[in-house]
Amino acid sequence: MTEKIARFFAENRPATPCLVVDLDVVADNYDRLHGALPDARIFYAVKANPAHEILSLLVERGSCFDTASVPEIEACLAAGAPADRISFGNTIKKASDIARAHALGVGLFAFDSVEELEKIAEHAPGARVFCRILTSGEGADWPLSRKFGCEPEMARDLLLRAAGLGVVPYGVSFHVGSQQRDVGQWDLALSTTAAIFRDLEEKGVTLRMVNLGGGFPTRYLKDVPTSQEYGAAIAASLRRHFGNRLPETIIEPGRGMVGNAGVIRSEVVLISRKSNREDDRRWVYLDIGKFGGLAETMDEAIKYPIVTERDGGATEPVIIAGPTCDSADVLYEKTDYRLPVDLKIGDTVSILATGAYTTTYSAVNFNGFAPLRAYYI
Ligand SMILES: *Cc1c(COP(=O)(O)O)cnc(C)c1O
Repeated sequence: MTEKIARFFAENRPATPCLVVDLDVVADNYDRLHGALPDARIFYAVKANPAHEILSLLVERGSCFDTASVPEIEACLAAGAPADRISFGNTIKKASDIARAHALGVGLFAFDSVEELEKIAEHAPGARVFCRILTSGEGADWPLSRKFGCEPEMARDLLLRAAGLGVVPYGVSFHVGSQQRDVGQWDLALSTTAAIFRDLEEKGVTLRMVNLGGGFPTRYLKDVPTSQEYGAAIAASLRRHFGNRLPETIIEPGRGMVGNAGVIRSEVVLISRKSNREDDRRWVYLDIGKFGGLAETMDEAIKYPIVTERDGGATEPVIIAGPTCDSADVLYEKTDYRLPVDLKIGDTVSILATGAYTTTYSAVNFNGFAPLRAYYI
């Protein structure tokens, strides 16, 4: 927790649950990612945290934006981003939304099927398009599965077809999976991408851009490599597979841009056991759970560090759950979480590294609980 966030909690004692994001950390993350891959343009993945304060800060720093919907595009425009710094990176778009984005001036679109390519060609004629290829998601704590992307052979055929449809075949994209802790995972995707570039060149089509996606991690319970290490591994792969004909590159960090900038403050609602046995693990129920913004605890995929005011003394293993009447609302049961033995009902706990994928995942009114409040300082 940064000093600024600690001071905010101490001085304001905000009602819980709430998220506090330190904008200086976001700025620092931007600078680090930019420093690690100086030739890549940064398209912030807006879905990670679309707060106006974050978008304006990034506009000022020169960032571009990857969006998935018309409201996300409008949020970027409202924060001052020119339309030519916005991509529509969702591969699943309504025709009417493509037309709206095109009318707003967005000129860069993703696709991974002929059906989507035809939609873009019809409703955003002249746009630059890039095709997303499948990746394994290996090494990622939050893999993106086969929902997005197509086989490389299909990508090649579709990019060849694009020009004939009146759009510009611009490049290839992939996403190696979110919270990707293996810096080597970009290499295979880049080797495949370079082969697509060569094939198309032979057929007279020059692709320009490689979209390296997101995947840059936040430190949760385990250490992660630095931005510099990701940058070095990716730069080496680019040289290995593209030689001295390096393409334009873009990255789309979401989690890596905002994850470590936020802290959720929560209150302990109940501490109890399910039997009279002393060795029965205690259940600690917080006033935030899966439906309050911690959806990424699904399958205990993302393991947020949790600190309390009573840290330093003896701890014991606990099961941590949310406050709603849904049995799925258990945060950690298999993972070995320990909390202080003298933790009390009414204590506050801080859930660290919660700046990404929290506010937007919180339910509107489940069980009457309000969406997660957030402060950007
Ligand atoms: C979600 C998403 C990202 C951001 O991923 P992170 O792992 O959070 O960096 C980037 N690109 C696309 C297309 C996405 O859908």
